[in-house]
Amino acid sequence: MPDNQLLSIIIPAYNEQENIDQAFVAISKILTENNIPFEILFVDDGSCDQTFACVQKLSEGHKEVRGISFSRNFGKEAAIFAGLEGAQGDCCLIMDCDLQHPPALIPDMYRLWRDGFEVVEGIKASRGKESPFHRLCAKGFYHIISGATGIDMSRASDFKLLDRKAVDALLILPERAPFFRALSSWVGFKTASLSFEVQERTAGASKWSLWSLTKYAIRNITSFSGAPMQMVTLLGWIMLLVSLALGIQSLYRYFSGTALEGFTTVILLQLIIGSVLMISLGIIGHYISRIYEEIKARPRYIIRKQCGQEKN
Ligand code: UDP
Ligand code: MG
Repeated sequence: MPDNQLLSIIIPAYNEQENIDQAFVAISKILTENNIPFEILFVDDGSCDQTFACVQKLSEGHKEVRGISFSRNFGKEAAIFAGLEGAQGDCCLIMDCDLQHPPALIPDMYRLWRDGFEVVEGIKASRGKESPFHRLCAKGFYHIISGATGIDMSRASDFKLLDRKAVDALLILPERAPFFRALSSWVGFKTASLSFEVQERTAGASKWSLWSLTKYAIRNITSFSGAPMQMVTLLGWIMLLVSLALGIQSLYRYFSGTALEGFTTVILLQLIIGSVLMISLGIIGHYISRIYEEIKARPRYIIRKQCGQEKN
């Protein structure tokens, strides 16, 4: 393999004005020390602060920095895919702007890639500082998504280095709502993993609220699995068993002459059946709306501005 293999670092950034310079300094220092040719591609996910202005300023002084700015906030997954599309490297590394993914690990990941691994995954050794509630929800989410994908995702992160082949495989996937973390495993290829300690955020606060995390979890579970719809069938079977038991009891009472009792049972049954039906309709409705979204085939993101020079 020739020595000048370009590494593209893709950094989604949403309201990260305090972190852009720090991220650039930390990453470029490590890579220059290790003689790794690189470009850094910041994808500004429709920030309301000076994020893109910072990127633009950096790109004027450093030819290895490029920037893409979205017309609005399209989400981290869209930003990652825009980065993959714009990257020119022989391999691409995705990492967060807040340096929670330690740049010190990049040379090891790059070396593994040079040794022939096409996907090098950063695996969280621990989940960093989180509230017990957040930890519990994350555990539940990863349990479901791991079951759905058949890939252990409990310690997975977006900190990954992908060979050009894996990047191209990801880019031809047509889905509108891609889930990068799972898809990058789903595409296969020879994979190695490296574990890392999640660092403290350098500045600013996490961009995720409980509500946005819930939406993220539901969206990703349903984009990867039809299991919730099978749960509807399971609920149907359970209700059938309950109705059989209650049916036999009611008939017994009728024939033994005590049929007037059981008003509470009637109310309870009405309520249970009502809620099961509503939830089931909701689940099916959710999938229909996902199909609707996919079929509209809108672009994953819209670019407002770009900066920096592409290599020819
Ligand atoms: N991010 C993004 N778009 C969003 C939310 C987040 O591009 O809508 C970026 C953010 O700038 C950061 C990375 O995704 O580089 C991880 O976000 P954050 O640190 O807020 O998440 P956490 O580390 O708490 O999971
Ligand atoms: Mg973070």
